[in-house]
Amino acid sequence: MSMGVDEHLGVPAALINVLGQRKGVLMVKGFTYSEYSPNYWYCTKKKSARCNAKARTDPHGKLTYIKDEHTHPPPKYLVTKTGEYVKVS
Ligand SMILES: [Zn+2]
Repeated sequence: MSMGVDEHLGVPAALINVLGQRKGVLMVKGFTYSEYSPNYWYCTKKKSARCNAKARTDPHGKLTYIKDEHTHPPPKYLVTKTGEYVKVS
């Protein structure tokens, strides 16, 4: 029922590089998701915060589904000069 859910469908989600992580991370509205199977994403705090937020993308990286009810505030990142993200919380 959240108004914030559907407005992001069909838009490109930002794929970011996080220092120390081999795979790219999906960022939507400040929350980050890691890919557990092609085009299927779980919140990066799934385990640590028992968060069930998840997302799906099409092969072009556009969001096709998102459930973005998180159990925690968005993680904080610093961005380096080379465009990599460093997690600070
Ligand atoms: Zn979450």
